This record gives sequence, C-alpha cells and structure tokens, in this order.
Amino acid sequence: MAKKKRIVIALGGNALGNTLPEQMTAVKITARAIVDLIEEGCEVVVAHGNGPQVGMVNNAMLALTHEDPLQPNTPLSVCVAMSQAYIGYDLQNALREELLNRGIKDIPVATMITQVRVDADDPAFNNPAKPIGRFLTKEQADDMAEKYDYVMKEDAGRGYRRVVASPRPQEIIEIGTIRTMVESGDLVIACGGGGIPVTRQGNHLKGASAVIDKDFASSLLARELDADFLIILTAVEKVAINYGKPNEKWLDHITAEEAKQYMSEGHFAPGSMLPKVQAAVEFAESAPGRQALITLLEKAKDGIKGTTGTRISQA
Ligand code: ADP
Ligand code: MG
Repeated sequence: MAKKKRIVIALGGNALGNTLPEQMTAVKITARAIVDLIEEGCEVVVAHGNGPQVGMVNNAMLALTHEDPLQPNTPLSVCVAMSQAYIGYDLQNALREELLNRGIKDIPVATMITQVRVDADDPAFNNPAKPIGRFLTKEQADDMAEKYDYVMKEDAGRGYRRVVASPRPQEIIEIGTIRTMVESGDLVIACGGGGIPVTRQGNHLKGASAVIDKDFASSLLARELDADFLIILTAVEKVAINYGKPNEKWLDHITAEEAKQYMSEGHFAPGSMLPKVQAAVEFAESAPGRQALITLLEKAKDGIKGTTGTRISQA
C-alpha cells in the first residue's frame, strides 16, 4: 500500500463559532470536512486557533476575580490551556461521532494538551499586537489597564480591546508524545490556540502572558511531524493580491519566492493573512515536496485534489 499522505490541518477561529452553542454546531461541520480527508486516505493531525475563545475564557476568569476577592487574576497561559481543553473536547467528541457514523471504528481520537516554548526575549513581548476578548469603551479600557496592568488598544474603530504578545513558537514540548500517537494511527488534536506559551527556566517551564499564532505553531508541528501537506482552513477560498481592490487577483499556485515577493509588496494583512502566508512559506521551504494550501473548510477535499485553494510550494 502506498504511504498515506500526512496532513496537518490548521483550523481558523471562525471555523469554531463565538459561543458555546455555536461551537457545538461548528465542530460537526468541521468533523465532516476532516473525516472526508481521512476517507480519501489521508493521515490527519488537527491544530486550531483560539482568538475568540481565549478572549471569552479570559473575560470569564476576570468576572470570577470580580466576584470573589480570594480568586487572583488568571494568567493568560492558563486561559490558553482552558481554551485548548474546551475546544479539544468539542472537536474530539464530534470527530469520534463522525468516524463512527461512517463505520470507521479503528481510529481513536485524542487531544494533547500542548505547551510550546517561546523565547523570553522575543521582541513580540515588547509590542503586544494580538487583540483578544470583548470590545470596551475608553473608560472601561483605562480601568482594566490600571487594575490588571493590561495593555489596551483601540481596534479598527470598533472599541478598545486587550492586546497581548504573540511570540514565535520555538519548540513543541510534547512533540514526542504527539508523534507516537500519530504513528500509532490516532487522530490527534494538538497545539490548540497555538499552544500554551512557556519559557524555559532550567527544568521549569514558566507560563508566558501571550497567545501564539496558530498558523506558526501549525507550521512548526507540520515540520516536526514530517507532514506532506499543511492545510490552513480559513474564511476565504483563496489568497488574493490587491485584496479588496478593483484589480484583485485570486491566486491558485505560487512558489515560496513569489509569496515572499508579494509579502514584501504588502499584499497580505498583518494579523490575518500575512501569518498564514509566512507559515505556508516556512513549511514549503523546509524540505522538498512539502506543500501548503490555504482554503475554506468546505473546500478542503477539493483543495487536496488540487482543484481549488491557494497552493504554496518550493518551486
Ligand atoms: P483565521 O481565524 O482563519 O485565522 P483571519 O481572520 O485571521 O482568519 O484571516 C483570514 C482573513 O484574512 C480573511 O477572511 C480575509 O478577510 C483576510 N485577508 C487579508 N488579506 C487577504 C488577502 N490578501 N487575501 C485573502 N484574504 C485576506
Ligand atoms: Mg487568524
């Protein structure tokens, strides 16, 4: 039998909904798309984002601190851990059911709580740029900044939000266990929300106040697992140059070199499409034959057949 294609799928936050009931519904659709790929003969590893979810957990934990003076403020690293478990549980539950519904009984599904090491001196710590949580008025934002030492920023005319550091992932701490599970045929969910950010202090891993971009963490995971494909599933079917302009052009296939050229020309928005293209390029350039694909969740199956999405390869 030919070796199965190994695919790391990075699910966007929007593929998961904004509330508990929305997520419950969203994971069913996600599970169908993922099991479609398994039925096509692929070996799949799932990673996912947590932007809206980690914001929600952070707000909930803040409400607890307000309510009970004995409860100290919850570190952001713990909020990321909570979001991994919350999303992992729903995905794991829905994937198991979808596999069984299709008569696939030999693929166990498991979520790996994943710590990801970042550099304590990553310049991102001095420039918090990733907005999380709900939108606030200027007064509320000032109050939060004062009380909790949060950095608050105005977000595109929609109000104020907490911004956190988004350092680059350097090392997936649990990679050995993840690899063992994948090699034994399990369907693994790992690096949720980009992973729980930690810095190394001797033998101790210290939780960091940050949220790692899941696009970068997924790219590292795909490299570490020697995957053939990194598929980043998001809210657009293809990547465009001159996005939103009259001369917008949707891209089918670009080389890593072309992608770099487009990046330098500023075609991809920082914080949304830019990290995806950067993560795709890092993966495509890491070894011959590796390819990345950016497309819609519903198009994943067509995408791996090469009929849609934007494919990024070394040459
Ligand atoms: P996710 O939750 O999947 O990470 P993001 O919102 O972070 O999604 O990124 C996807 C969004 O990037 C798209 O919905 C689109 O609005 C935006 N985007 C910015 N630049 C581009 C571009 N050049 N081509 C396509 N989409 C773009
Ligand atoms: Mg994103």
